[in-house]
Amino acid sequence: MKKQLKEYIRSAIKGRILFDEPMASRTSFSIGGPAEVWVEPKNVSSLVGTIRFSKKLGIPLTVIGAGSNVLVRDKGLKGIVVSLSSVHFKIIDKTGEQSFRVSSGVKLPKLLKITRNKGLGGLEFTVGIPGTLGGAIIMNAGGKDKNISDLVTKVDLMDRTGELFSLDRREINFGYRFSGLDDYVVLGVHLHFQKRPQDLIDRDISNYSRLKKSFQELELPGAGSIFKNPGHFAFSAGRLIELSGLKGKTIGNIQVSTKHANFIVNRGGGKARDVIKLIELVRRKIKKDHNIDLELELKIIG
Ligand SMILES: Cc1cc2nc3c(=O)[nH]c(=O)nc-3n(C[C@H](O)[C@H](O)[C@H](O)COP(=O)(O)OP(=O)(O)OC[C@H]3O[C@@H](n4cnc5c(N)ncnc54)[C@H](O)[C@@H]3O)c2cc1C
Repeated sequence: MKKQLKEYIRSAIKGRILFDEPMASRTSFSIGGPAEVWVEPKNVSSLVGTIRFSKKLGIPLTVIGAGSNVLVRDKGLKGIVVSLSSVHFKIIDKTGEQSFRVSSGVKLPKLLKITRNKGLGGLEFTVGIPGTLGGAIIMNAGGKDKNISDLVTKVDLMDRTGELFSLDRREINFGYRFSGLDDYVVLGVHLHFQKRPQDLIDRDISNYSRLKKSFQELELPGAGSIFKNPGHFAFSAGRLIELSGLKGKTIGNIQVSTKHANFIVNRGGGKARDVIKLIELVRRKIKKDHNIDLELELKIIG
């Protein structure tokens, strides 16, 4: 990027700005080339400014949360990458006896801890999910029987022109790892919790945690489940991959986890192109063996 444009960006956008920021250090996969411009807007008005600035200059803009469900390509991300990680985007406001408005930059483990300490249940199933609330809403993160959308009453959003608006839960088309909100920036989420004795919350948290530790791949860098489970089929994506003999399949330093076949892990210094090759190989084999088109849960960006 030209020096002049860098200076212009520095003067036009309020917040922390980094150039050529390596995305490998900003994602759970530890993979990805640099973001041309990394911006942490100071507050909502500087976010509006950033969005309008990028639109005016025709610069692409990507929003990222904790980077725990994305694969950034090796060539990196062109344009501006917005991270809602400044203190302004980590506010939690009590809106009722059992409800909160939570800014999108708050991480799920922190929110789980806070609500647990207040004797409010509902988030137990999120234990072990390392994302932000914003990313969790976009993905409708969850487990077998529960999703974050179960707690949502309203979502505060910004469109790509910088306009603010809110949608009630019933106006959002939440589905399995789907929200339909990818075109917007999630600013805050209104959540409703259940009053619950802390010992019951703790019991459920440890049960979920034990279960996840028993089957999830947590030792090596990855991004959780790579494929969605095919809804109409009796077997999960992981089971299908295992049945096709691909557990442990390796390309470069990237491997189908030997613990859970729906996880792909970076064994150190892995490249995005090898993750993509492995994903394509898995998809081809599952199509051939089971006539199923596996759909990605992972978001590939860049
Ligand atoms: C060890 C491990 C375990 C996991 N377990 C689970 C699990 O049990 N269940 C599950 O569902 N997922 C799981 N995941 C995946 C991931 O943690 C979730 O999908 C999480 O909700 C993603 O949040 P994030 O902040 O990291 O989003 P990111 O990965 O940063 O982004 C995900 C998508 O959301 C968009 N986005 C992020 N923030 C915003 C925002 N504020 N506004 C608009 N768009 C935004 C990004 O552009 C991207 O398209 C796991 C991942 C790991 C590494």
